Amino acid sequence: MIRWIRGADRGGPARRRLGGGGIFASRRRGRAVTRVRLMKKWLMAGVLAAVGAMGAATEPRTLLLEVRDVPAAAQQEKGRLAYNDYNRDTVLSLVRNTAFVLATPAEFAALKRDGFHATQVMESADRMQLIKRALYGPTLTLPAIYHRYGQIVAVADELVRTHPERIARVQLGETTQYHRPIYAYRVSRDARQPQDQPGVLFDACHHSDEIMGAEIVFSLLQKLVLDYGRDPEITAWVNRSEIYLVPVVNVDGHDIVTSGRDPRWRKNARDVNGDGVAGIFPEGVDVNRGYDFNWAMGGSDQPDSERYRGEHPFSEAENRAMRHLLELKHFVLSVSYHSQGEVIYYPWWWGGLPAPDDALIREIAGDIAGHIATMDGPGTYAISPGGASSQSYAWLYGRKGVFDFLIETGKGTHLFAPEDVPGIIAANLEGVKALMARSRGPGLAVHVTDARTGQPLAAEVWLPRIENNMVDRRTTDAVFGHYWRLLRPGKYDLIISCPGHRTEVRHDVAVVQGDWTPLEVKLQPDN
Ligand SMILES: [Zn+2]
Repeated sequence: MIRWIRGADRGGPARRRLGGGGIFASRRRGRAVTRVRLMKKWLMAGVLAAVGAMGAATEPRTLLLEVRDVPAAAQQEKGRLAYNDYNRDTVLSLVRNTAFVLATPAEFAALKRDGFHATQVMESADRMQLIKRALYGPTLTLPAIYHRYGQIVAVADELVRTHPERIARVQLGETTQYHRPIYAYRVSRDARQPQDQPGVLFDACHHSDEIMGAEIVFSLLQKLVLDYGRDPEITAWVNRSEIYLVPVVNVDGHDIVTSGRDPRWRKNARDVNGDGVAGIFPEGVDVNRGYDFNWAMGGSDQPDSERYRGEHPFSEAENRAMRHLLELKHFVLSVSYHSQGEVIYYPWWWGGLPAPDDALIREIAGDIAGHIATMDGPGTYAISPGGASSQSYAWLYGRKGVFDFLIETGKGTHLFAPEDVPGIIAANLEGVKALMARSRGPGLAVHVTDARTGQPLAAEVWLPRIENNMVDRRTTDAVFGHYWRLLRPGKYDLIISCPGHRTEVRHDVAVVQGDWTPLEVKLQPDN
């Protein structure tokens, strides 16, 4: 029992402004999984427990059912056909009141008896076949609307070849298990050189079963390059910022999903037990629990958990690849695409305390969310603060000063039917517009140089009234000496310091409405 409780994600429940969803719900989902496993133990011990119809089964679930018109009550959290992200045992998807469900013959009979519109889709002793049928569809393989990594790279590389001034490829590292290259693509007004421009990052597929994110980033990448010079809005984004795109972070996991091997593969492909066989559930490391901000507070230390955080922070090459990217570029804003839930998680809610920049971050999250229509309209995405641990957004904000937004696209499954894919992409590109509009300020564009030589300095820029000790000090980039920092219009105090130079304190620096407010700081050498 302790084993499973210890394995629960203690990333910090986000209770505020939550209507039963969000991280808090995922913690409860963790408990639900715990409950199922405990029940199995009790049943094995001969203890008869009263369990829900889809809770635990004594015989194998050999049937895949389609259940139509699932009533709202049955969809709710403790409802009979509730969907949760980690369930591979019963409800595999629940989209627009239609569920795909694994069941025993007795469970099938019970559902029909109780008035559910359940029909049998497939019978097999091989559970993976049933999961494939539910999530890939009748062909049992990835629908052609989705792309494999090789296809994404081939198209992007062709753009690099034909538009070298607009897009460049940067290899960030290689995957943990199969040493596949992990690529970022850089788009700017002259991609051949690093630009002294505010950075914006889009990444996807930390969780490899959430392949919608890769499609969104891939679509955005093509749009940025091909519509430059034609679409004034896109032209303006590219001219005034340096945009990095990482279509797939977890490349090995993405291959397990897109090759048709397992549509529910979430973690990377690490052969955790070292038996020489990789990619068999539940192996792998959750690469969205591998960053070094409150690492030990996030995920699970149990290797068979869906949220296994690995042996130590940055144990996984996928996380080191992202760390390498953040060494190349400072970002003002970023998005990490996930899927399932139609909600944006932002940093953060940590032990009862909001993030230092909470008011502004929440405003931006709300702005982006308000532009992304849900699959079934007329509503838009929700927002929720996430826990401050080990995940990319906590690390990007806490360590690197990036306002990062984890966008959960679509609802009811990880792998959406082909007819839903274009709509989810289009809706999320509207969210990109809202984000990019924020990447031009208001805020401070601090430029720090050595007063004697004029050389740019890697200096700390501290706004002590905002940035408490929860977050690392923000710095200018060493190459250009620039630090772009989003702020609401108003007056701010700054402390600017750099080893070998006299620290400067600036009081009541005014940030005006509109674009970036420039602030030149020339630091005097100590001697
Ligand atoms: Zn995810």
